Amino acid sequence: MTTTQRPVQMGLPRVRPRAGMSAADRPEVPELVDRFGRVARDLRVSITEKCSLRCTYCMPAEGLPQIPRERLLSVAEIVRLVRIAVTDLGVREVRFTGGEPLMRHDLEEIVAGCAAAVPGVPLTMTTNAVGLEHRARGLVAAGLSRVNVSLDSVDRAHFAELTRRDRLPAVLAGIRAAARVGLTPLKVNAVLMPETLAGAADLLQWCLDEGCRLRFIEEMALDADHAWDRDSIVDAARLLDVLGGRFTLHPVEREDPASPAEEWLVDGGPATVGIIASVTRNFCDACDRTRLTAEGTVRSCLFSDDEVDLRAGLRSGATDAELAAQWRAAMWDKWAGHGMDSAGFEPPRRSMGAIGG
Ligand code: SAM
Ligand code: SF4
Repeated sequence: MTTTQRPVQMGLPRVRPRAGMSAADRPEVPELVDRFGRVARDLRVSITEKCSLRCTYCMPAEGLPQIPRERLLSVAEIVRLVRIAVTDLGVREVRFTGGEPLMRHDLEEIVAGCAAAVPGVPLTMTTNAVGLEHRARGLVAAGLSRVNVSLDSVDRAHFAELTRRDRLPAVLAGIRAAARVGLTPLKVNAVLMPETLAGAADLLQWCLDEGCRLRFIEEMALDADHAWDRDSIVDAARLLDVLGGRFTLHPVEREDPASPAEEWLVDGGPATVGIIASVTRNFCDACDRTRLTAEGTVRSCLFSDDEVDLRAGLRSGATDAELAAQWRAAMWDKWAGHGMDSAGFEPPRRSMGAIGG
């Protein structure tokens, strides 16, 4: 067995393309298939590296180096790539992310352009909700379907410590505004780590009171400071222990076995709380994601720094068919798994905020 074929704990090899399987082995299908039989249908589009917060598990304290404006995709370029993804490559859902998507003043234009280009396709956004209070209505009018909001604590001092910014009131106002204008079902995502465990029950209570669906996601090795440590992962059992001190939890049968979240009914339901165990029970074998970075590269996996540049083609007259072919080739080379749970794991160069989570 070569080092590139080393199995990881979950049975998936973290491999680069297998020897003997070349680009020529790719079947002639329009969709974004890879060598392991997966098909990417879910597109994450990062539109900026800028952010209003500095979450310790994501960004360095000083923020990410600024991308010169001319290197960022324009509204028209984003809309074109989204249209190609949907009409030529079989993508079925588009999620805007970053950095913080609300940092782009032309976000409404991007959403409206995509809504016109791919009518009927859900357009969603992952956001920290800072400033959403004032833009939620306009985003719905532009065609946004839903939002996922990231929130790790409802304790103001603790929130400020985790995000290095005292913006909890703005976040809560943003979530409420989004719910009021119908950006629902509204999911709240919290990163599960030792620092967030103590406030987890209060966060769940807040989400229950506000009618939001809370999901905890295990911390991944995607922090800019490279401080992630496998040994400090808080697993589902520990979280359930903590939440069980205040709530009665019963596991819900998964409707969709490919869904990364395991759900528990809270106090008999109908409310639920979810856990996305991306490290300890990874779901790489069911991964259906493809990513575009803010600079217009295709990233087939969060953890693979091998990116394929579409911006050069976009700016030098490439046809839709040529861009689609480049995108297909990039996804054919997708790794089997991230390998975070394996010995010798090395984090990618880009952090979560620089990729687009
Ligand atoms: N700024 C937006 C936000 O926070 O929702 C969108 C971008 S953010 C990079 C997307 C998601 O990645 C957030 O839910 C955030 O909590 C998550 N995230 C960032 N760093 C992470 C890490 N090291 N492990 C797990 N999730 C992380
Ligand atoms: Fe910003 Fe989102 Fe990263 Fe927090 S997780 S620093 S809000 S990009």
